Amino acid sequence: VKENGKAGVRVYSAALDAARHRQQELEGEIRQGLNDGQFEVFYQPIVDAEGKDIVSVEALLRWPRRPAGAIGPDQFICVAEASGLINPLGLFVLRRACQDILEAKGLNLSVNVSPAQFRDPDFEAKIAAVLAETGFPAQRLEFELTEGYLIDHPERAMAVIASLKGMGVSIALDDFGVGYTSIAYLQRYGFDRIKIDKSLAGRIATDKKAGVLVAGAIYIANGLDMAVTAEGVETEEQADLLRLAGCQCLQGFRYSEPKPIDEIRDWLTERRG
Ligand code: C2E
Ligand code: CA
Ligand code: CA
Ligand code: CA
Repeated sequence: VKENGKAGVRVYSAALDAARHRQQELEGEIRQGLNDGQFEVFYQPIVDAEGKDIVSVEALLRWPRRPAGAIGPDQFICVAEASGLINPLGLFVLRRACQDILEAKGLNLSVNVSPAQFRDPDFEAKIAAVLAETGFPAQRLEFELTEGYLIDHPERAMAVIASLKGMGVSIALDDFGVGYTSIAYLQRYGFDRIKIDKSLAGRIATDKKAGVLVAGAIYIANGLDMAVTAEGVETEEQADLLRLAGCQCLQGFRYSEPKPIDEIRDWLTERRG
């Protein structure tokens, strides 16, 4: 180790430079993509516990017209967050989704909000402006938040959540089961809903401990007046277990993959007549 020390550091810093370079490149691509209209919003249906009626859709960002080839949000959201581009990108998703879903009467809309967007002091005002501009009723809108920022900046997070709820928007805790915090603790943020992550929900039929965790989380959430959506439902067996445990809403490939708005409209007509 000692002999290779200097060379090791050089290799390490060369790798860091390369990673930083790739990140900067991607940052430029995202900025260009926003200007050129390369991004799209897809929608994944969320159904009731019986799997019968569609109650809402989750807006999910797609980049189909990226010149260097489409990549998923897991590959570029983090770069957008680090560079601040998540602010215009997040507003693009919200505006487009409000426009697309407005006419789908009775359908609620869930939009992912990156905690990094909370760093913008005008965040709440920008949300209010999009709602006013699109005419989308705040009561039909829910924001999905991950817990990271809440833990790091509890005061700011609580203030933003309170003012969003003041507008009539609901707040869901996203990716439950991935982080470390208990829902009992997170309840003080005033969540209306928790979303059980697919990494946990996907194992309930095969892993006894995952099943106990999920059933317990649903029990606690419901007892604290929070609704529960399970993500990543792929089989009827998982759906049965979740329904029996008291889960209100189901989302996953069992029902539908995320789809473009036209296909969602067809799907609605088919299922609702
Ligand atoms: P997420 O918020 O947890 O979204 C759910 C992810 O699970 C989506 O991946 C969805 O396609 C996938 N999924 C849904 N049902 C199933 C299933 O039954 N099986 C499997 N294997 N997967 C399923 P996607 O669209 O690739 O998004 C990944 C993540 O990127 C999202 O995770 C979210 O954290 C982030 N993301 C996507 N769109 C946005 C956005 O507009 N803004 C922000 N801030 N983040 C976004
Ligand atoms: Ca989500
Ligand atoms: Ca998730
Ligand atoms: Ca997530």
